[in-house]
Amino acid sequence: MHVANDLTKLIKATEEKIAPTIKAINRIALFNQAKVLEAFQKNKINQGNFQTSTGYGYDDIAREGIEKVYTAVFKAEKALVRSQIVSGTHAISCCLFGLLRPSDWVISITGSPYDTLQPVIGHQNTFSGSLMDLGVLYDEIPLDSNLHPNKPEIAQRVRKLKPKMVLIQRSRGYQWRPSISIDEIQEMISLVKTVSPDTICFVDNCYGEFVETREPIEAGADLIAGSLIKNPGGGIAPTGGYIVGKENLVELATTRLTAPGINDKVGASLIDPRLLYQGFFMAPHIVKEALITAVYASAMFELLGYTTDPSPNMVRTDIIQAIKLDSQQKMTTVCKALQETSPVDSFITPEASEMAGYDKQVIMAGGTFVQGSSIELSADGPMTSPYILYLQGSLSSEHGKLAINHVINTLINSN
Ligand SMILES: *Cc1c(COP(=O)(O)O)cnc(C)c1O
Repeated sequence: MHVANDLTKLIKATEEKIAPTIKAINRIALFNQAKVLEAFQKNKINQGNFQTSTGYGYDDIAREGIEKVYTAVFKAEKALVRSQIVSGTHAISCCLFGLLRPSDWVISITGSPYDTLQPVIGHQNTFSGSLMDLGVLYDEIPLDSNLHPNKPEIAQRVRKLKPKMVLIQRSRGYQWRPSISIDEIQEMISLVKTVSPDTICFVDNCYGEFVETREPIEAGADLIAGSLIKNPGGGIAPTGGYIVGKENLVELATTRLTAPGINDKVGASLIDPRLLYQGFFMAPHIVKEALITAVYASAMFELLGYTTDPSPNMVRTDIIQAIKLDSQQKMTTVCKALQETSPVDSFITPEASEMAGYDKQVIMAGGTFVQGSSIELSADGPMTSPYILYLQGSLSSEHGKLAINHVINTLINSN
């Protein structure tokens, strides 16, 4: 804690430490911006695409246009991009229920899935309406002792069970484990396809979009899904989710959002469609801002002696920054300070509480324009030892830095 008393010095040390990483992040953003721009141009997006529609929403060109743009950017065959998808969990749930049938096996090959997916799967078989309740068979392969996917075990189980689907979660979520890079996703998918060519490889892409230059479909994934109030909404989309991938698989997932036979031909664009387009256009830049904030926070906390994951200059594949705070009091202090720097709800004091879909008390900070948006600066963590805070987002790295500086200053003064 030797540099602790001099925040200015600490800021300078932080900036110096992360400079090369920021350069790399800028290069990725430039590449991704070009990719998105090209998709807009190729699909001749115009003012006409920004009109809302009503009723069934037949021939809704707002909806069709954004789905073409997503299809192009993710190098997929088809996309479903809808404000009627209420969250990331809903998007993923449509994929699982759309594709899996009674007595099919689904195996999570990256350990236990994200908390809100547990009731969807029906882990303890206690949630009626879950996949397991409907007779889908579920298994998961824990990460190995280095917290990486256990490849020998994956090969063995997939060869034996020939599952209908494997689940891969790219982001760490609320877990102290490395996120899984596109290269690693590619290795796993090729492993799965080698021993069981018909197994569908599904990737939960939440928090991963635009962090690398490639997306999971380019690494061989058959189907991926995510939330529009995370990366691809660019902080502008007010709600929604997306599913992209192989045509027949997206169609099956779509039957769970609408109905068999109706598929993707309905769904009025009730909210201003421009927000989905503009958000997606801004997404590579906004993801860059969020990454700069994450790297900055990682470096500053590390300089103060905290353990952070990823460490500041590690290559990233998602926007999550985990910081081990080691005490309940520090969790509260950091969340309170972060909340104080928010543009919205800055006067509110965060408190740990029960959350739908989570089994432990969770503390959250985030004064966001879009409710619950985590591409905006926010932090969450379960109130349990070792008190790990998961920090993510920020629409501007300037805001991110101001916020982290305030948090660090508060932390130093509270000791
Ligand atoms: C956010 C997230 C989800 C979905 O969460 P929602 O809050 O329902 O959008 C699923 N998986 C991961 C890894 C996530 O980060």
